Amino acid sequence: MKTLIKNGTILSPEGEVKADLLIDGEKVAAIGTGFVGPFDKEIDASGKYVFPGGVDNHAHFEALNTDGKTTNAGYETTWCTLLGGTTTIVDFCTNEPGMDLCESIEYRINTRAKGRVSPDFALHSCCVDYRGEETLAEIKKLVDMGVPTMKLFLAYKGTSLYMDDATMLAFMNEAKKYGMTMMFHAENPDVLDMWRDGEAAQGHYEPKYHYMTRPPFGEAESVSKCIRFADAMQCPTCVVHVSCIEAGEEIRKARAEGKPVMGETCPHYLVLDPHLMDNPDWKQAVHWICSPPLREKPHRDYLWKALNEDWLSILGSDNSSIPQYQKEWGFDEKLGCVDFRKVPNGCPGAPDRLNVAWTYGVAKGRMTKEKFIEVCCSLPAKLNGLYPRKGALQVGSDADVVIWDPEFRGTVTLETNPNGLTYQPYEGCEQIGRAETVLLRGKVVVDDAKYVGQPGDGQFIPGKPFGLAYDLLKR
Ligand SMILES: [Zn+2]
Repeated sequence: MKTLIKNGTILSPEGEVKADLLIDGEKVAAIGTGFVGPFDKEIDASGKYVFPGGVDNHAHFEALNTDGKTTNAGYETTWCTLLGGTTTIVDFCTNEPGMDLCESIEYRINTRAKGRVSPDFALHSCCVDYRGEETLAEIKKLVDMGVPTMKLFLAYKGTSLYMDDATMLAFMNEAKKYGMTMMFHAENPDVLDMWRDGEAAQGHYEPKYHYMTRPPFGEAESVSKCIRFADAMQCPTCVVHVSCIEAGEEIRKARAEGKPVMGETCPHYLVLDPHLMDNPDWKQAVHWICSPPLREKPHRDYLWKALNEDWLSILGSDNSSIPQYQKEWGFDEKLGCVDFRKVPNGCPGAPDRLNVAWTYGVAKGRMTKEKFIEVCCSLPAKLNGLYPRKGALQVGSDADVVIWDPEFRGTVTLETNPNGLTYQPYEGCEQIGRAETVLLRGKVVVDDAKYVGQPGDGQFIPGKPFGLAYDLLKR
């Protein structure tokens, strides 16, 4: 099957070029002009941009919640990410109850995900059941299985997610031997607990106390520890979902000093205002409870700058598709009101990641098109060892292609921008530009901005070790 995408402008981190793209089967066969048919399919991309499908470094579909039982919205909702132009998600795989890390990965690929995932997917391992040497011995096996990344939670003390300093160091020491990149959710748990319980003791339970009790210094302190440990252990590390100036500055300085550290931020930290949580209707206000929390405008302005200057290199969604009924677990029967401490943390966002970056970045002159491709497509693919199969349109790359209409103007609603849930955190936001046509390995899965693919189109894509963060060791 040969497909020609003609008359478009192809975007890459190096710039833009007017050229045609020839696809043969699942791969990019050639880029140029004057291709001679016959072709099985021709797509006219006049007036449109053509770029590699988005790679989302940070997705939680079907995640187990902190109680170890219930799950977020499932893989059947992942088609929404294709509609938004993301063709590869890197999903987090925590320990399934009673399974070690490798068994959990196998279970996820062969059972949970089988026949249900729409985009292609890679996996990060995420340890929530640390068993010392037994767990550390799994690192090499994980890398061999195509899972060269591991996330640990430094927050949520008192739950199985929390990992202490000794565990962090043990992981780093082992991970670097096999080219595994470590990732951290960095928030100081003692700061959080002290601030949260202090407010609750004064009868402050409303959702807005979520953002008021997660001060930037608590995040920055934890990021600082990640950097110091990564440098001392010479273990390449990525701090995920950086939300504030103080934490970003830690990473900026570390990178200037050549330390092996990268940082990610997320669309919601770029554009959404924490005062959305002041909504007196608590069932609405809880939608924006995520960790770290949304921050005030100076932080949002800083994060745009940080992405542009490459202190932060990756725009990941941290998609947590928590259904409304789970958000309402925040209601405390005894208190007779919502308790912000009990609301599951997380925001959906994988389907809207590219829209947000284009609308508020490229279209508003806050980000170049080259940087957009870098933070949304190529750098996440490189970090996860998926490049250039993913995150690039080169001869031999998978033909994951977005044809983007920059003239589109709209307003985000749940109907126009579905996310698999019954609420949309970007409801009412402006949208400029959208994915009009999307191909996944040569197959059209979005046509005229409508999903036309099938669940199960997505395949597991193994990542290679020694990803982008390892380049920082060569100096
Ligand atoms: Zn996350």
